[in-house]
Amino acid sequence: MPRIAYVNGRYLPRDQGAVSIEDRGYQFADGIYEVIWVRGGRIIDLEGHMERLERSLDELSIKRPFARSVFAVILAQCLRRNRLADGYLYIQVSRGVAPRNHVYPDHGRASVVVTASRARPYDPKVMEKGVRVITIPDIRWQRCDIKAIALLPNVMGKQRAKEAGAFEAWQINALGEVTEGSVSNAWIITHEGEIITHPANNSILSGITRRAVLALVREQGLKLAERPFTLEEALVADEAFLTGTTNFIVPIVKIDKTPVGNGKPGPVTLDLHQAYLTYMDKQNEGC
Ligand code: PMP
Repeated sequence: MPRIAYVNGRYLPRDQGAVSIEDRGYQFADGIYEVIWVRGGRIIDLEGHMERLERSLDELSIKRPFARSVFAVILAQCLRRNRLADGYLYIQVSRGVAPRNHVYPDHGRASVVVTASRARPYDPKVMEKGVRVITIPDIRWQRCDIKAIALLPNVMGKQRAKEAGAFEAWQINALGEVTEGSVSNAWIITHEGEIITHPANNSILSGITRRAVLALVREQGLKLAERPFTLEEALVADEAFLTGTTNFIVPIVKIDKTPVGNGKPGPVTLDLHQAYLTYMDKQNEGC
């Protein structure tokens, strides 16, 4: 696969792409990003990602660098130039280059980088056996709804998960509630069959996969509550799973040392996973 990146108006070999040391993304983590899945050569949920990207920019008063239609052309070019069929696109927009000063520059121009990467080889064990999550305190700021490139607490959380031999770290707030994972949204299914996930407020990132799964849950007429759930509730749930662009839906079979349900991927989770794959494939047929 060729490795071509879009860097501020130019398509370059990825290892030659560079931004200034005075870029505010580098200096202050003053920027936002998106990760978008590509399946069978088609971009999944482009509109949702573009909407969220624009919202993140607007919340930080970073001027939108271009119209959605221009972004769509750049993304398509990145797919084509990298001959990418299955993988993901990464978009990063920072406030741009300016002498280091906390206040926003008056006439800044956003820096835009897009890369395209192949999907990691699919590990069937993840769906067959499920995964374990550990729990960690949620030490993040109060604007987790912005998809900011400032990700240190998430980076530290994911590293702790790795060191514990777990797939993900669920973040627990001061009230004992599970907000979300370090790179994914968190869900449980109660013994009564209610599917619960944290509401999309400032405490979590409103996942694009989460939105799609919510729609599937509603379509199937399953019981649903968008409300915070506590770690205690999670430990007695029948099923648990996580969602995210790069992992779709992953069954969770252990939280810290406690097995979830019977310790195997739950039937509702597996059904939803199938429904999500179908949902993605339908986007391909439609175009
Ligand atoms: N929460 C966090 C903190 C994340 O980093 C991500 C993935 N970027 C998600 C949730 C899932 O969002 P999406 O479904 O849009 O990938």
